[in-house]
Amino acid sequence: MTEERQPQIQIKNIAKLYGDHHVQALADISLEIYRGEFVALMGASGCGKSTLLNIIGGIDRPTGGQVIFGNSELNKMTDEQLTRLRASKIGFVFQFFNLLSTLTVRENIALPLELLGKENRAAVRKRVDDMLEHVNMSKRADFYPALLSGGELQRTAIARALIHNPELILADEPTGNLDTENGLAILQLLHSINHEQKLTIVMATHSPEAASYAQRIFQIKDGHLVGESTECPDT
Ligand code: ADP
Ligand code: MG
Repeated sequence: MTEERQPQIQIKNIAKLYGDHHVQALADISLEIYRGEFVALMGASGCGKSTLLNIIGGIDRPTGGQVIFGNSELNKMTDEQLTRLRASKIGFVFQFFNLLSTLTVRENIALPLELLGKENRAAVRKRVDDMLEHVNMSKRADFYPALLSGGELQRTAIARALIHNPELILADEPTGNLDTENGLAILQLLHSINHEQKLTIVMATHSPEAASYAQRIFQIKDGHLVGESTECPDT
């Protein structure tokens, strides 16, 4: 008996026009991503990477085409349903970290769990403690973001993205605001998360070095998918 391997994410003929349709951010993008893959969306600034990532994550809606995530057809869902899908199944990592400045590291990481409201305080505490250790931030648990380095901020943001056990991590230029050393550490952390937890990661980047951590690289130019390549980083 043969079993067809179903993609986790199907992106079909996605187009995105902005404003009065003078800006075509994306044109007819089709690609499939499988569970457990680490893929990169690579291209120059303005080519449409963030737009595509936001459409995959249901933050933004395409003007054409469709995204199917698991069994969910995103274009058939209401904003509220998309918000719930994100809260339970997707973790986001951004270039500028997007942590809440009035919350400590621990509180920032706990936030997605608090919003889901499924677990009691002791269980949340335990999950957050384990996660702090996982990203090597235990010593900074009670610090506010203003006191942290870029690398520490991004490790905190990755912990926040992982805390609710998502099925997908979307990372938008996660090393774009870090020096080389901290950037490498973040890429290695993403690699180990993908490798050890078999968690799907889709990363937008303009950096070929960052993209080399992915197993497949989709090249985007002026809103078009212009190529796909396969890398073998450290196998
Ligand atoms: P990248 O992430 O690759 O730098 P973006 O997805 O941010 O690219 O942007 C793709 C194109 O869409 C760019 O030309 C950008 O100026 C345009 N764009 C992005 N967001 C908007 C918006 N809200 N309104 C109008 N144009 C936008
Ligand atoms: Mg971008």
